[in-house]
Amino acid sequence: MRLTDLPQVSEKRAKALKKNGIERPFDLLDFFPRRYLDRTHIVSIKQLRGNEKDVTVVGSVKTIRTQGYGKKKRLEVFIQDEFSNLKGVFFRGISYFQNIFEEGELVAFHGDVKRYGRYLSMAHPEIDKLEQKDSLDEITGIIPIYPSNKEFSKAYISNKLVQKWITYVLKHREIEEFLTKDILTAYDLPRRSEAYSMIHFPEKQSDHRRALYRFKFEELLLFQLSINRLRQQNKQRADGAVMTEYAPNTKTFFNEVLPFTLTEGQRSALHDIKKDLRSGIQMNRLIQGDVGSGKTIVALGAILIALDNGYQAAFMAPTEILAEQHYRTITEFLEPLDINIRLLVGSQNNKLREDILTDIGGGGADIVVGTHAVIQDQVRFHKLGLIVIDEQHRFGVRQRAELLTKGAHPHLLVMSATPIPRSLALTLYSDLDISLIKDMPAGRKPVTTAVRSPKKRKEIYKFMDRELADGGQAFVVYPLVEESEAMDLKDATQGYEQLKERFSDHSVGLLHGRMPVEEKEEVMHRFINNEIQILVSTTVIEVGVDIPNAHIMLIEHAERFGLSQLHQLRGRIGRGERAGYCILIPDGKLSEDAQFRLRTMAQTSDGFEIAEADLKLRGPGDFMGTKQSGVPEFNVADIVEDQSILQETKRLAAQILEEDPELESSRYEPLQKVFEPYFKEKSDFYSMA
Ligand code: ADP
Ligand code: MG
Repeated sequence: MRLTDLPQVSEKRAKALKKNGIERPFDLLDFFPRRYLDRTHIVSIKQLRGNEKDVTVVGSVKTIRTQGYGKKKRLEVFIQDEFSNLKGVFFRGISYFQNIFEEGELVAFHGDVKRYGRYLSMAHPEIDKLEQKDSLDEITGIIPIYPSNKEFSKAYISNKLVQKWITYVLKHREIEEFLTKDILTAYDLPRRSEAYSMIHFPEKQSDHRRALYRFKFEELLLFQLSINRLRQQNKQRADGAVMTEYAPNTKTFFNEVLPFTLTEGQRSALHDIKKDLRSGIQMNRLIQGDVGSGKTIVALGAILIALDNGYQAAFMAPTEILAEQHYRTITEFLEPLDINIRLLVGSQNNKLREDILTDIGGGGADIVVGTHAVIQDQVRFHKLGLIVIDEQHRFGVRQRAELLTKGAHPHLLVMSATPIPRSLALTLYSDLDISLIKDMPAGRKPVTTAVRSPKKRKEIYKFMDRELADGGQAFVVYPLVEESEAMDLKDATQGYEQLKERFSDHSVGLLHGRMPVEEKEEVMHRFINNEIQILVSTTVIEVGVDIPNAHIMLIEHAERFGLSQLHQLRGRIGRGERAGYCILIPDGKLSEDAQFRLRTMAQTSDGFEIAEADLKLRGPGDFMGTKQSGVPEFNVADIVEDQSILQETKRLAAQILEEDPELESSRYEPLQKVFEPYFKEKSDFYSMA
């Protein structure tokens, strides 16, 4: 059946449908209503007073007129129900709206009601056309409202027509069920064919809800089956070195060297790692924990196990500053042990580099800390058994895949300080096993966060005076984005000059990405050693940097930062003895989103909560800032909203595959027929292969 086989479908209409993703008549079934109008939800205009929010009224169009001139020009559309009038007002797109209304037709307006003089009005209401009925009295039951757009209007594709086509398709196509009877019963799902009727022609409100639930359920079930299969495939991929020795290094370190006891989360992450390293299969694990949760120690544990078993380990960070800091931390921690640690970064001179490479190749170097220079081909390890990647979202999915196939198939441990809602983590990192560190080391002081207007700068500086006099240190952060880099740098530099003048009793430093590496190094060093008290910086300090004495952070142009980014920045302070203060200073008029971001920051310090909020704000596609982040697109399910279905289908998928791993029994044959093409199409998205 082709589109043009449907009643009243011309080439022109077919084209309009295709432009909206409807290629074949069958696709119309998945063209779901965007809203349902229920007679019982319609408000009589007479009852309105002029202060209602989000109401639906239905009436026939009486008058369409423009009012005012120039900037004040507007379109007014009066509708009338049984007793009264209401006016829809349009300030933008006047010529467009002028053309879509016809006098006498029945329409629904949705929006907020105001009263101006004699008239009740709605500014830019959402509009639904109800051309299938001539008067309000004829509206009984529930009317599905389909998405419409300019292409549809131009081709005269009305709500009524869409319904007519769907009726036709439902009558002429058999709809096959691919879930078993048991599943339908256990989860109280309508059959597929029923669900289509219920979503397009609901008799009661619960109908379309149940139908939608069924469609989300099947979509998420297919998704969970895919993830399961990918995991199996990844599991089969390679053998890994068996590591079962925990002495001398591991024992000594945890029993004698480590100055604190591990948190519950750290302990359980280490437990997971030990299990992986024993298993004989390559480890591919993600440690997720908020900033400051102590992931480095966990990584060190893994590294020491590798050493104890006669292997080398590599530790990679996304920037040189971070690599150097890790190098220092690790060197300090492991000082009492007899371990050779080398730093490998791009800025080292050839002679030094040669020396390091020889050391690595000969097996003299036990641990190599560095940027991704560490995995370049010239670097030949003697016996590499483990790779740790810090802040891994900066490493591409593909890079991660390459690592796993390197040389002797090292174990892989990645650490992310970007808390990701669990649901999303499962999809983003479907190839990884995940350990979660939820708790923080004891004794952490919470960071107080406040939003302050630039007008309060004087008072803020006075506050800083007191805190600095008491021996503290402060970050002052400026945004820097590529598009406006020159201007941003100027901002930061000017801020630096002003602060230098204002805080002439203290030493003020400047740090940004454009500075030569040695200079950056030096500034960082001086800040770490408290030779600098105020560090003006762009976002280079964003990840990982650990300066326990720094306890104040001013964020200038706070409205320009993303939510997760702000959280990362704030994680830099409150790591030591002093209570932390994070002061967000937005500039200019704030968008609603910006207000929401700042408010969220002030309200919570829970990284996962912030991640959820950020995800909602930006949607999964944007969340990690990359299209290749592997976030799959769903047709009906919402990975944030539909958590409970996600959990249910996860259990079900595991159960099904345990029963029939290849879905080859007659019971699961229909499911298999749907799953195979789905998996082929989506697996690129889900996997890192
Ligand atoms: P992140 O998870 O952000 O990488 P780090 O590993 O840098 O966190 O740890 C942050 C700080 O907390 C470090 O100074 C570290 O030494 C300290 N730390 C880690 N684990 C503990 C613990 N169990 N008890 C006390 N302090 C800890
Ligand atoms: Mg870290």
